[in-house]
Amino acid sequence: MENSGEQFDVIVIGAGIMGSSTAYQTSKRGHKTLLLEQFDFLHHRGSSHGESRTLRATYPEDYYSRLVIESSHLWEEAESEIGYKVYFKSPQFDMGLSDDKSLRAVIASCRKNSIPHRVLDQRQVHEEFSGRIQLAENWVGVLSDLGGVIKPTKAVSMFQTLALKNGAVLRDNSEVFDIKKDDVRDGVFVCTRNGESFWGRKCVVTVGAWMNKLVQSVTGLVLPIQPLETCVCYWKIKQGHEEEFTIQGGFPTFASYGEPYIYGTPSLEFPGLIKIPVHGGQRCEPDKRTWSPAPMILDSLRQWIRERFGDRVDSTGPASNNRFGRLD
Ligand SMILES: Cc1cc2nc3c(=O)[nH]c(=O)nc-3n(C[C@H](O)[C@H](O)[C@H](O)COP(=O)(O)OP(=O)(O)OC[C@H]3O[C@@H](n4cnc5c(N)ncnc54)[C@H](O)[C@@H]3O)c2cc1C
Repeated sequence: MENSGEQFDVIVIGAGIMGSSTAYQTSKRGHKTLLLEQFDFLHHRGSSHGESRTLRATYPEDYYSRLVIESSHLWEEAESEIGYKVYFKSPQFDMGLSDDKSLRAVIASCRKNSIPHRVLDQRQVHEEFSGRIQLAENWVGVLSDLGGVIKPTKAVSMFQTLALKNGAVLRDNSEVFDIKKDDVRDGVFVCTRNGESFWGRKCVVTVGAWMNKLVQSVTGLVLPIQPLETCVCYWKIKQGHEEEFTIQGGFPTFASYGEPYIYGTPSLEFPGLIKIPVHGGQRCEPDKRTWSPAPMILDSLRQWIRERFGDRVDSTGPASNNRFGRLD
């Protein structure tokens, strides 16, 4: 094993959104940082590629809210350093049966974290969105300000560029298979399959769905982590209604609790299409995948679109699936 001789304050393993933003933050704080990625940078085999992710402060798990509120400022800070946008703000709208446990937890979390929000009944939702979102009589909606869309591939690229500007070293096609403790100098050796070894004072592991593989290779332990292969689909907005579903038109990011759990973003990345997928997917091994769209509960998704968006969105079938499953 060839020791590169280079020494780092922090070695980050895995260059998805977590690893790339970590490398940005550590290098910004003046720590000499190395970011290692097993595939090409900006590859499409992990969780962080693509065109959109929802950002919202309203979660049933109330510890998320504080993190998201803090993160929204950090997104803006990174955007101002790079000079372009990756975060497109919109309101967030959560909905479901009025006694749905998760939706009740969302409302409780808003109260606990002092997140300004309004709980709206069927009629109020109709008025608020001028008929674009329709709820059943026994449903309620929760409207809050902090929502929006993150462009994930663009955001990963932004963090890597900023890390590089701060002096970080970035290496792709470098799969880590071992991390050895150096008790003499209080650090670690990080070893890659292409025969290199790097010394770091600290090591941050952000390998997403490959966590089990790496932990097993380093320690022999098997962690109870099950990656899912999931599928995103877009639906056609009917002619004449396209603007109504955009951020500029006041349309929110949204989550619909119940079975199935559905979420979506305003029309942004593909004009005339709106992203409405089911949250979840099929079990998979990240390195042995079918690369075919994960089966979706299409019938209930169609029905949900018909009931919520009426005749403004074509619910006969998705206009596009992402061709390949992604990891969650
Ligand atoms: C379809 C989909 C929709 C989603 N929607 C939302 C949403 O709306 N809102 C939201 O907040 N979140 C959403 N998520 C979740 C979010 O995208 C993920 O939580 C996030 O991208 C995870 O990033 P990560 O860096 O942990 O993992 P990854 O992006 O998978 O990055 C891990 C990286 O580590 C590398 N790696 C693995 N093993 C090694 C090794 N041994 N050596 C070197 N490198 C290694 C991998 O190649 C990979 O690049 C969604 C996820 C998916 C898949």
